[in-house]
Amino acid sequence: MLSLSLREAINKLKDGSLSAAELCEKCVTRAKRLQELNYIVTDNFVQSQKEAVNSDRLWSEYVSGRHNEWRKFGGIPFAIKDNFCTKNIKTTCASNILNNYVPPYTATVVQRLQGEGGVIIGKTNMDEFAMGSGSTDSVFGPVRNPWNYKFSQPGGEGNGTNDWHIAGGSSGGSAVAVATGTCFGALGSDTGGSTRNPASYCGVVGFKATYGRLSRHGLIPLVNSLDVPGMLAKSVDDASILFNAIAGHDVRDSTTVTDPFQNFSLPDDISVKHLHIGIPKEYHAPGISPCVLEAWRRAADMFDDAGAKVTEVSLPHTQYSILCYSVLCCAEVASNMSRYDGIEYGHRAKVEDSTEELFAATRHEGFNDVVRGRILAGNFFLLRRNYDNFFIKAQKVRRLIAEDFRRVFEGGVDMLLTPTTLTEAPTHRWFTEADNRTRAEEQDVFTQPMNMAGVPAITVPASLSQSGLPIGLQFVGPNFHDQQVFTVAKWFEQQTNFKQLDLSHIDKS
Ligand code: GLN
Repeated sequence: MLSLSLREAINKLKDGSLSAAELCEKCVTRAKRLQELNYIVTDNFVQSQKEAVNSDRLWSEYVSGRHNEWRKFGGIPFAIKDNFCTKNIKTTCASNILNNYVPPYTATVVQRLQGEGGVIIGKTNMDEFAMGSGSTDSVFGPVRNPWNYKFSQPGGEGNGTNDWHIAGGSSGGSAVAVATGTCFGALGSDTGGSTRNPASYCGVVGFKATYGRLSRHGLIPLVNSLDVPGMLAKSVDDASILFNAIAGHDVRDSTTVTDPFQNFSLPDDISVKHLHIGIPKEYHAPGISPCVLEAWRRAADMFDDAGAKVTEVSLPHTQYSILCYSVLCCAEVASNMSRYDGIEYGHRAKVEDSTEELFAATRHEGFNDVVRGRILAGNFFLLRRNYDNFFIKAQKVRRLIAEDFRRVFEGGVDMLLTPTTLTEAPTHRWFTEADNRTRAEEQDVFTQPMNMAGVPAITVPASLSQSGLPIGLQFVGPNFHDQQVFTVAKWFEQQTNFKQLDLSHIDKS
């Protein structure tokens, strides 16, 4: 039952061959069995099961004609990254400073899922305030990648507790929730790759929409000008179903576009014959693994064989993206984080000498080193004497990065094909040998420029590496061509025939 796609689950619930209560119970059991992966930080098991039972009741009333409201996601479990506010459910951003924060309202995109009957099975683990690329910098500890789950089992193949692989980040918990079949879709966030990176490492689909298509109301900000809610799903179709359910204008987020969103569903019969695919030459970056290169080359050949035009293109300012991001991110972080002062909500230090000292102690106890480091750097960039040289300059470079994409798309390219990550999921041991900043600089090279440009991007599992870990490839389209990105990605998915992780033995053991 847990290997069903979201679309299949919707259809089975609709025709009555599946009960929401049973489905939800199976998901809860799965989550309990896999606790060791550390992907759920606050569970909502009891409440979600109640809601699923209620969904079955509503469904029978609908069938017997007592009302005519059919809810698409009636009783289907979803997982939500712990930086989306959820009314009455703790929302911590995996940080000490919000360790007891229960929001009085729900993020718009979550509300839209719930409006269609979706239930929240749990809030997922992440890097603190989404600052990271590994889901290793969380107050709850790191998330483990389910593809080598056996490594951490007694008698497993691994030779020690550090040899397991990371899930990627910062939405690692959401990626694991989908990959393990614990839910039928999950929300993450994407500021520099945080949805696409863990999706690629965990063998699921991860979609970052065009900036402005999805509401950020209730998504606790990292970098407001780059943040986009992300969708993680078992298939491209499933991700597009989620996107259609949550997209569109929100009066509570002035950065959402006001033109009406046209719902769409993806065809099964797709042709890429007249498509022009661009391969950015700068993406042959140092450190890219042979497996990733091979998958990328094979994908380009597939399009070529199917009659598409495949050419090399140039995105010359890509190389400045990481540096530019580190200025813009820290600057926005410095101002965003000022709201955590221990007065209005969240953690408060037990210091009563002075207000200044209360602020300082609260923030020292509440934030990890990564967050504090970024606040310090950001305040430095924003000093009057540095503002033009750092902040303004970074804004200009950001414009150049965005112009690269515009130029390529206006020149006739329909879609870009790139790797999502340099390698398969690294081991925890290797990943934590360097600090958060160094790792983000390596990990985000292929994903961050799309946030700078606001363009839609999706990662699709392409193949398995030699050691049996998934590798994803990325498709990138022009602004507001989200539907086209989904369509091309679905065609690619149909060609690859990638097999989702099967953990059905877990429920029996
Ligand atoms: N790795 C980047 C960072 O640490 C991006 C994270 C994200 O997309 N939330 O900021």
